[in-house]
Amino acid sequence: MEKIQEQIDILIKLQELDAQLYQLAEEKVAKPTEKQALEEEFSQKKEGIKAKEDAWRSLQLKRKDYEMDLETKEKEIKKYQGQLYQIKNNKEYTSLQKQIEGLKADNAVLEDDILALMEKIDVAKTGLAGEKDNIAAEEKNLKQETAKIDQEIKEIETKISSLEKDRSQLSANVEKGLLSRYERILKAKRGLALVAIVGESCGGCNRVLPPQIINETRIKDEIITCDFCSRLLYWSG
Ligand SMILES: [Zn+2]
Repeated sequence: MEKIQEQIDILIKLQELDAQLYQLAEEKVAKPTEKQALEEEFSQKKEGIKAKEDAWRSLQLKRKDYEMDLETKEKEIKKYQGQLYQIKNNKEYTSLQKQIEGLKADNAVLEDDILALMEKIDVAKTGLAGEKDNIAAEEKNLKQETAKIDQEIKEIETKISSLEKDRSQLSANVEKGLLSRYERILKAKRGLALVAIVGESCGGCNRVLPPQIINETRIKDEIITCDFCSRLLYWSG
């Protein structure tokens, strides 16, 4: 009985360590995902800016197209106006004049379009400048956040290795068969292998234990397991 109690006392400490180790391992696994989420969020914002930049460039190209079109038509107008003086025929004169009027009407529309485009380009440019400032600040922020996460990972690793040292010292005092039984359950039950009886229930699965199991656990002739969840039981009362 004393020997069993001694083993249980060590296992209780071991279970405390293992609970911490499992918790830390989970935290460590979650950290890179946290980092990745931040990086993805940032790169999406960057993509958004790039798309707006592309839109701004294509507005500028459109403006250039319109201006070239305007210039071509103005040249045509000048050419036709020159021809007007050489025409003797009334009908030809009228037709050429109509063409000139048509071109001038086109150009008036083009000039309006160009003005509207210039306004759009200005608005886009101002918006982009603001977003670029923001993204620069966010990039700085991202670097700080990811560096913080890296630091947290390091701290977790330090804690883990220190706990593992304690663990190996402690587990050296557990009888080999019992230790491997405990470790098997620990793995299967994700970090919780040894539980106290709480009231009349298993502290692991919360199910009510048969009185016989409770009695056997209290007697401490051997280490008893819960029939429902297979965890090792101990009597703490
Ligand atoms: Zn149980």
